[in-house]
Amino acid sequence: MLNKIIAENFIQKAGKILDESDKIVIISHVSPDGDALGSSLGLYHFLLELGKSVNVLVPNNFPDFLRWMKGANDITIGERKEKLAKELIEAADLIFCLDFNTLKRIDHLGPLVENSKAKKIMIDHHPDPDDFCDVTMSYPDISSTSELIFRFICRMGMFDIMDKNAAECIYTGMMTDTGAFTFNSNSPQIYYIISELLGKGINKDEIYDKVYNNYSECRIRLQGYVLFEKMKIYPEYKTALITLSSAEQERFQWKKGDTEGFVNIPLSIEGIIFSVFIREEKDMVRISLRSKGTFPTNQFSSEVFGGGGHLNASGGEFYGKLDNAIELFEEALPNYKQLLV
Ligand code: 5GP
Ligand code: MN
Repeated sequence: MLNKIIAENFIQKAGKILDESDKIVIISHVSPDGDALGSSLGLYHFLLELGKSVNVLVPNNFPDFLRWMKGANDITIGERKEKLAKELIEAADLIFCLDFNTLKRIDHLGPLVENSKAKKIMIDHHPDPDDFCDVTMSYPDISSTSELIFRFICRMGMFDIMDKNAAECIYTGMMTDTGAFTFNSNSPQIYYIISELLGKGINKDEIYDKVYNNYSECRIRLQGYVLFEKMKIYPEYKTALITLSSAEQERFQWKKGDTEGFVNIPLSIEGIIFSVFIREEKDMVRISLRSKGTFPTNQFSSEVFGGGGHLNASGGEFYGKLDNAIELFEEALPNYKQLLV
């Protein structure tokens, strides 16, 4: 049996809003990952079965290795279809905000959502959500938003309406946000849910294969290059850093998703508990941070780069040159020595 994680009054309130809404938009965060798409498309398939008119909207494109997901081709990419994105938000009676906790995480869609007259329901697992929704279901102890979507559907008494497509998407998000059930994945409830999803006919081995064994040749060569040439180890801080310039990305024909997961690799080195990946973008630098154990990457990210996220996985942005971001990181590291144990 599932524990009742989501508060009953939230379920009641969200259920009533859902009953009263026909035009629904589901929005997730910039640079959508497996959980952003898994939760959004999982809910999308469920709402289609319920007979609702529903659209999934994300600020920018997602990686090719998630393109196989059913419904992925129906997603509106805000950056490419600005007019349509605006129209969808303006016409919506209900907006689901999935896998993000602050409007900043949906980039240019933020002001449109903020000003929309639609009811808003947040379902998310990032700490400290902003207060911009009518119902805020925020459960940072749950390892994926996709798991929360499963719980939400069950709690509304509609497990039977969840089809195989929805189950596949939900499984994908649960899998990707736990590194294929290798971190944040000790709750027995996760495996209860997986067994229910298997009961819907999903093929979990095939899903793993589609996500993790589906990379381009360029990505694998780039991975070899960064690990051999670019990874720096700071043994006294149990830390690893990988950096990547625009020129290097050009050399390896970098595409969105090609560096996803690189930040996790140094954590497989004995004794390394903190790993950072810094990548130059057109007008800023992206930082990804991961840790094992109790080191709070979100605190580091927020204090050093104004970013945020979870304890073991966070991110940030730096508006300046790559070298300055690296300098900032190296200067900050000694201040965290006591936490890097
Ligand atoms: P990633 O390294 O995969 O881009 O991000 C890991 C996690 O960090 C995301 O799931 C998200 O929770 C968080 N995150 C990434 N970038 C930012 C950011 O710029 N600001 C905040 N507040 N959180 C971020
Ligand atoms: Mn997530």
